[in-house]
Amino acid sequence: MISRFRYKHGHKAAQFFLSRNNVLRAFGFSSYHDYLKSPLWHGIRKRVLDKNRSCCKCGNVAFLVFHGRYDEQTIQGHDTTHLYPVCGKCMGQIDKAIANNRLSHDEIVYNLKHGHPPPS
Ligand SMILES: [Zn+2]
Repeated sequence: MISRFRYKHGHKAAQFFLSRNNVLRAFGFSSYHDYLKSPLWHGIRKRVLDKNRSCCKCGNVAFLVFHGRYDEQTIQGHDTTHLYPVCGKCMGQIDKAIANNRLSHDEIVYNLKHGHPPPS
C-alpha cells in the first residue's frame, strides 16, 4: 500500500499516509476506501460542495473533494477548511501527479490554494 506512494520525499510521504490511516482507524475505518464509502464522508462531501460547487483549480463544476489534511477535525467534518472542491479532470491530474512522483501532497495543496505550484 505505502510503496505505491513513492514521492520525491519517500519517507515523508510514507509517514503522511501512515498517520492518515492511523487517524481513520481510530474512528473505526479499516481503510481510506472504507472511509470514502461511509455516510460520514458522504455528508461532509455534500456540505463542502453545497457551499462551493466550483473546482478550485479550473473553475469548472466540482463534484469531488480533495483532502488537504487528514487530521481528526477534518476526518470528522468539524473543520472543512482543508477540503477542496475539484472537478473530475483536475482530480485525475492530481492523481497522476501523485502516481508519477511529480508533486508531493503539500505541493498539491499549495497549487490548489494559489493556482500554481510552489516556487522551487
Ligand atoms: Zn478542475
